[in-house]
Amino acid sequence: MEFKKALHYIRDGDTVRCFLCPHGCVLKPGQTGRCSVRRNKGGVLYSLNYGKVTACNVDPIEKKPLYHFYPGSRILSVGSFGCNLKCGFCQNHAIAHGTPGTVFVSPEGLADRAASAEDNIGIAYTYNEPSIWYEYVLDTARIARERGLKNVLVTNGYIGIKALEQLLPFIDALNIDVKAFSDAYYDSICSGRLSPVLDTVKAAAGRCHVEVTTLIVDELNSSIDELEGLGEWVAGIDKSIPIHLSRYYPAYQMDRPPTRLETMAAAAKAVKKHLDYVYIGNVAGADNDTYCPDCGVKLVERKGYGASLLFDGKKCGDCGKQINMVV
Ligand code: SF4
Repeated sequence: MEFKKALHYIRDGDTVRCFLCPHGCVLKPGQTGRCSVRRNKGGVLYSLNYGKVTACNVDPIEKKPLYHFYPGSRILSVGSFGCNLKCGFCQNHAIAHGTPGTVFVSPEGLADRAASAEDNIGIAYTYNEPSIWYEYVLDTARIARERGLKNVLVTNGYIGIKALEQLLPFIDALNIDVKAFSDAYYDSICSGRLSPVLDTVKAAAGRCHVEVTTLIVDELNSSIDELEGLGEWVAGIDKSIPIHLSRYYPAYQMDRPPTRLETMAAAAKAVKKHLDYVYIGNVAGADNDTYCPDCGVKLVERKGYGASLLFDGKKCGDCGKQINMVV
């Protein structure tokens, strides 16, 4: 398949305005949006990456990362190319901003693969930004849902609310990147804005399982006040939303040194003041087991990407506290 007619745009003569994401690109014929995967051809907006797969692997769910959604399970993880943000530290820049090779996989074909993969709970749309792979993710997620598979988005959350509302009924879990709790950071490092991402977290929480990831970069988004602000804001929705604080390493256009371990520890301490479940990513030896927020008993033990459940997945066996976990 070459191109697929896009959803979520309006036409004014031969010009189109895409509102799939908050950039709201206005495109004349022949022009392509900031995501590089939606183009105006003769007054019609097309998706350029429909069904074009760059990577497809069965991964541990912990690798997404999702720690409270079927711990210890595996999920078929698939990505395409393109992105609507331009983060200087992008670890997937070859597919997010490059021109990688692709293989066409139909929505039915992908659902078939997921259904036949051993010990696989569903499909994770990941690697590049899934929200700008929208039409394909929507079509595939519908079929996967009919087959009893789970659908997971690993997303930057930079999506228009209407488009999100149309997709959410087919999604079971999201890991949403909140890259910083600062509009200035989004503007200067990611070429985006913070508020639409927060809107996505708000809209998704309570309807799907949600976890949040924040990549900590020394001095750029590591201010304790800012991190406390993030923790407090997430807690305002639900203090049991798990958050993953991930250590930055140099990548793509950013060559600052890796985030200091002291910064990671301070970040975790700040966020823990407000949230029940705080995990540290990209730090060897970090304790990422899950503990009951009330009595402190261990509930899930993790080694690498493996996880062992030590309770019934609902309530703490010691004190009876309800635990935010899907099993
Ligand atoms: S999805 Fe792409 S074309 Fe549409 S508004 Fe966002 S960046 Fe622009």
